[in-house]
Amino acid sequence: MKHAALLRHVALVALYVAAAPVFVFLWIRRALRAFRASQLVRGGFIDCPHCGARNPLDILATCRRCGATEFGSRLYCGHCGEVTQGFACDHCTATITVL
Ligand SMILES: [Zn+2]
Ligand SMILES: [Zn+2]
Repeated sequence: MKHAALLRHVALVALYVAAAPVFVFLWIRRALRAFRASQLVRGGFIDCPHCGARNPLDILATCRRCGATEFGSRLYCGHCGEVTQGFACDHCTATITVL
């Protein structure tokens, strides 16, 4: 009985070890995206690549994921942590892809 319990424990640990790189990969990818976004939005503006209009980021924005509306960054939700990958230009309404 004790032996079986030990085996189960070992199998569980092996499962965590096998899954760990996936979590590390996902975490790094998320961190990289957040870093690239922070590089792009330095100064609080993003220039539209289509019409050249300057889009402020600190506006009242609604999160696509959780629906929360707040001031701050239109690219990042303080409620659920969602990082938005694109938004419509204020001037020409073309989608500006950030990530
Ligand atoms: Zn949200
Ligand atoms: Zn534009």
